[in-house]
Amino acid sequence: MTRRFQPKDPLVLVLLGPPGVGKGTQGRLLADAEGIPLLSTGDILRGAVREGTPLGRQAQDYMRAGELVPDQLIDDMMADRLSQGDAARGFILDGYPRTVAQVQALDVALETAGRPLSLAVLFEVADEEVVRRLAGRRSCQSCGRAYHVEFDPPRARDRCDRDGEPLVRRDDDRPETILHRLDVYRRETEPVATCFRERDQLAAIDALGEPADIHERLREALTPGRLDVRAA
Ligand code: AMP
Repeated sequence: MTRRFQPKDPLVLVLLGPPGVGKGTQGRLLADAEGIPLLSTGDILRGAVREGTPLGRQAQDYMRAGELVPDQLIDDMMADRLSQGDAARGFILDGYPRTVAQVQALDVALETAGRPLSLAVLFEVADEEVVRRLAGRRSCQSCGRAYHVEFDPPRARDRCDRDGEPLVRRDDDRPETILHRLDVYRRETEPVATCFRERDQLAAIDALGEPADIHERLREALTPGRLDVRAA
């Protein structure tokens, strides 16, 4: 199978997978290495909620309940974000698109910007692992950097390594909301992966293991000619 993207094109990557699978961590590693922005819809939305913007006020009840924010709000937010100058060098999308309607909106935004999608990467893990990861997840209330109490603890207990601010459990990482978010993922976002698979633009990787190993698998997935990368 031949990969459609050319290695010389700016990297335009979509990261897919259930909540808590490590898309944010892996996206950050790759974005820093490539010198391109990581655009996380969850982080952008949480910033809007913190600042009390009109978007934040419209989104916050959906987010707290583990529901998806309506497509139109998200598509407008992302079209605006993708038009900013730093996206010209390429970018990594974490948390977008999450519905088939959002795939169509992204198609239009990429077409308008003249930046074709390089690849969508699906991070796969079992549901039990997702619950374990989300239940132990903490994030900095100021910069949003994520930690895990067991797998990726901060250097100082309950404080962010980057800015020393307190770490908090996200509202939507409560056990009862986690299962609902998984449900929403199966219903709304798995069809997104199917969409990219049908277009021959999907690579699946096993997301269980050490961050450095998963980073390697992600790198392999970006090697032209490999469309399905799983751990042995
Ligand atoms: P995340 O940090 O990616 O888990 O996103 C946190 C929450 O933000 C989700 O549970 C949704 O309520 C909302 N959200 C993030 N991205 C999207 C999206 N693409 N479409 C709809 N809602 C979203």
